[in-house]
Amino acid sequence: MANALDGKVTLVTGAASGIGRATAIAFAKAGARAVVIADIDEEGLDETAQMVRDSGADALPVKTDVSRAADVENMVAKTISAFGRLDCAFNNAGTEGVMAPTADITEQNWDRTLDINLKGAWLCMKAELPHLLAADGGSIVNCSSVAGLVGFQGAGAYAASKHGMVGLTKSAALDYAPTGVRINAVCPGVIHTAMIDRVLANDPGMEPAFTAMEPVGRMGRAEEVADAVVWLCSDAASFVTGQAIAVDGGLVAR
Ligand code: NAD
Repeated sequence: MANALDGKVTLVTGAASGIGRATAIAFAKAGARAVVIADIDEEGLDETAQMVRDSGADALPVKTDVSRAADVENMVAKTISAFGRLDCAFNNAGTEGVMAPTADITEQNWDRTLDINLKGAWLCMKAELPHLLAADGGSIVNCSSVAGLVGFQGAGAYAASKHGMVGLTKSAALDYAPTGVRINAVCPGVIHTAMIDRVLANDPGMEPAFTAMEPVGRMGRAEEVADAVVWLCSDAASFVTGQAIAVDGGLVAR
């Protein structure tokens, strides 16, 4: 999708790794002028910054904990001060939290999972939207999950956060539809990133189970989600808003 985002100023959270890193690179390859990359992991951000520059865009790493309003406001303020505008944002930072049956979820795990995944996406949109409105027709994509569309055993806090993101995305899309700002979510299936590697490190026996969950017979690649995000941010998706699009190898089609 070369030129799909020609000259745009873009932002990706959770960009030190996985789907966020792949999307930052995809934004650059799609012609973005700049990619602001945010994460708590500064070392990973520096690596991503180099990859973005190698792919032809300006990169601005900003250390950010998306669950903290002051960090998120700083992330957007640095974007505007460096590039003067914001056109597209991928609110992707997330945690899998700790898997546990509902009655065994600790309050701390519940709060941390919801704070990063759900409150984080809201804080990002709250800070980004005034600038997207000023940019006259920007686009936001939030990273939900197939766990935002269906339930998963042992994933109560994670699934609640990701279902919440779908409701937040649809409501925000309606709030801003008349302005030309489009807001959508992607719902990845099992994508082989560090998040899945952490689960496999605890339970190597899960690999065949992950593959078996996918009707296409394999886990997805981060780049396959990134391509969907680029499309949603581009003018090719100009009539698409308020959607939660599964990028999942058919997982929720069963
Ligand atoms: P990942 O662990 O590779 O990347 C997540 C990134 O988010 C990391 O760089 C991490 O440092 C960052 N992060 C975590 N907490 C943060 C915080 N408070 N503030 C800022 N950054 C923070 O995993 P991934 O698979 O690339 O996950 C990206 C997104 O995709 C997440 O929202 C995840 O829930 C979602 N997702 C992943 C899968 C999958 O199978 N991998 C499936 C569905 C949805």
